[in-house]
Amino acid sequence: MSSDANTPVLRNCIRLPLPEDELLEVTAKAKDYAIMHGAAMRSKTAFSPDSLNFAPFVLVPSSFPRKEFEKAVALQPIINRLMHNVAHDEEFITTTLAETIKVDEFTANLFNIYRKVLAHGFTQAYSIGLLRSDYMAHVSEGCAIKQVEINTVASSFAGIATQLVPQQKFVLSELGHADKLHNMPNNKALSGLCDGMVKAWDIYAKPKAVILFIIEDVSYNICDQRFHEFYIRETYPHIKVLRRTLTEVHREGKLGLGKELLLGNQEVAVIYFRAGYEPGHYHSQAEWDARYLMETSLAIKCPSIHYHLAGTKKVQQALAQPAVLERFINDPEEIKAVGKIFTGLYSLDDNEAGNASYEMALRTPERFVLKPQREGGGNNVYGVDIPDALKRMSRVERSAWILMDLIHPPLTKGYMVRPGGDMPPQIVDMVSELGIFGVVIGDAEHIVHNYQAGHMLRTKLSTANEGGVAAGLGALDSPYLIDSDDDDEEN
Ligand code: ADP
Ligand code: MG
Repeated sequence: MSSDANTPVLRNCIRLPLPEDELLEVTAKAKDYAIMHGAAMRSKTAFSPDSLNFAPFVLVPSSFPRKEFEKAVALQPIINRLMHNVAHDEEFITTTLAETIKVDEFTANLFNIYRKVLAHGFTQAYSIGLLRSDYMAHVSEGCAIKQVEINTVASSFAGIATQLVPQQKFVLSELGHADKLHNMPNNKALSGLCDGMVKAWDIYAKPKAVILFIIEDVSYNICDQRFHEFYIRETYPHIKVLRRTLTEVHREGKLGLGKELLLGNQEVAVIYFRAGYEPGHYHSQAEWDARYLMETSLAIKCPSIHYHLAGTKKVQQALAQPAVLERFINDPEEIKAVGKIFTGLYSLDDNEAGNASYEMALRTPERFVLKPQREGGGNNVYGVDIPDALKRMSRVERSAWILMDLIHPPLTKGYMVRPGGDMPPQIVDMVSELGIFGVVIGDAEHIVHNYQAGHMLRTKLSTANEGGVAAGLGALDSPYLIDSDDDDEEN
């Protein structure tokens, strides 16, 4: 889907294929390395709370253009500030989502919480954003990175991605390529994000207060949450992490006299949402009530409701319109740099511009992806499927969706290893999506912490529309940085 016969192939870090006996041996070691270091998940098909499977991974790291990686890293503090400013712009969020919330019940429910909180005033002025900005290199612009999306809620894989760098370094070393390890950038995603949560905990300034993780009823991606919890306890032994579902918060949670969020007798300083970003997480009004309760509390939310709304696809589409960035960023150089990472994003609202994008999508659907206001994968409509999907919608229903130019990433070749997969694995054509993590903490007037915090690479079969790691088409990976003027690797 993302590629055709003319798509360029990035130079591999080592020459493939590997001899079969060597491949079998190193793959078996890598699987054990993954399980032993927690690059792992619960099985969906054979779930047991007592065991883990390794998370799907790419055996040797996939190449990524160094210049573009460094660009993405350097941009992150600017993107953090942009999102912080967007989140605090009531007028922008309200007008941008006005049409969408008329037809998209989930976004409307989130927006209603926002509206109610606005009406009563924010109990907690500070927010913490643990963001992940996702990119693909776009071949028709010299592999310049283009933003796929920005995540402001439940930005995942910081924990596992951090483990994957040493795993792939181990594999390269086993294969006799220790000289190449320096092309794999270190990854401090886990400590970066968790230290951010602890900075928010410090701002709350109550030594006995806990950090609350909001979780799904079943956490398949358990390691990527336990890493955070264990890192916090190990690095800051005095801080406790609690895990609760929205349903449990509804049952146990209440507000204290100063609007402190209390679970039993424990006061919550920081709430980290790893659930609550999709309709399926809200089984009934109880879960929405829990979300509202937390939102009105004194706890510092990651994300607060305005941050959550700022991360919607609709807001991303609005930001990519000419001259909008000027509202949020002062420096013209920064505006230019951020503007360049946007690919075409089009409104489908029921007005002249929206109707023109609708016509354009019907004429040349193969150029586009159609996205609703959802997170977590599996919701988009691609290429030739778009006309049917659009025709099934009424004019107003279209405003729940946005249209986006397809990005065409270069191919890499490698071995994708997944539980129950072929042994030895086959060489496949793949494409990668780079995620850069960022931490931003502040209130409407000030940003008190703003930094880039590590990265992740997710790689999928080039034939797949989406690369959900748990869904089965994607795998975790790390970037192997290459320069455009490198000699071709022949070893
Ligand atoms: P979600 O919130 O579900 O993660 P995304 O916007 O990240 O939604 O889309 C899911 C996946 O679809 C991405 O990880 C990527 O593989 C693919 N995708 C999304 N937008 C584009 C695009 N513009 N061009 C190419 N692939 C895309
Ligand atoms: Mg995504």
